[in-house]
Amino acid sequence: MQIKSASFVMSNSNVEKCPKEPIPEYAFIGRSNVGKSSLINMLTNRKHLAKTSGRPGKTQLINHFKINENWFLVDLPGYGYAKVSKKLKNTFQKFITEYFKKRNQLVSAFVLIDIRHSPQKIDMEFMQWLGEHAIPFSIIFTKSDKLKPVEIPQNVNNYLQAMTDDIWEEAPNYFVTSSTSGAGKEDVLSYIEQINQQ
Ligand code: GDP
Repeated sequence: MQIKSASFVMSNSNVEKCPKEPIPEYAFIGRSNVGKSSLINMLTNRKHLAKTSGRPGKTQLINHFKINENWFLVDLPGYGYAKVSKKLKNTFQKFITEYFKKRNQLVSAFVLIDIRHSPQKIDMEFMQWLGEHAIPFSIIFTKSDKLKPVEIPQNVNNYLQAMTDDIWEEAPNYFVTSSTSGAGKEDVLSYIEQINQQ
């Protein structure tokens, strides 16, 4: 998919106030510092569309961007930042779960995972929650440039194996990306384009 336009629409913490236009929507979410802002900027060819986090855990809002005038890219807050207070964690959890439960036009979520990491409890629990609520998602492995090429399939396989060893009957759809090299960009965009054309 060629990105012809990408513009910020709104930020808010209330799903009821999200844009009403009934176009397909894709949500990006992951632990703070996973590389979400960098990925969004890479996918959209914009240096500063999503704000790369100088202070992880700071952007606690649902951010809507309109892409090519026909789909929404949603930047959700990063989770799992240790320094965020318990109260903020609860608030966060509440509006994120509300978002996923209520946002009818959400087509799929992309759960971002740093490709260097072994499965972390918080990500596994979050994906389990998505599964239990029948919310479709793919994994986007980020920062693949940080690994040697041979390590990439090894890490991916280990991760997916851990999921099927856990509760998953099948491993989810996944992408391997790097915001530095641009790897995986076309894969993610073509996937979205294909669904949008259905
Ligand atoms: P966010 O908190 O998930 O939005 O993460 P950011 O996009 O702000 O990135 C967190 C840190 O990881 C920053 O220092 C980025 O420069 C770095 N980073 C993000 N993506 C990549 C990547 O693909 N490769 C490398 N090498 N570094 C990355």
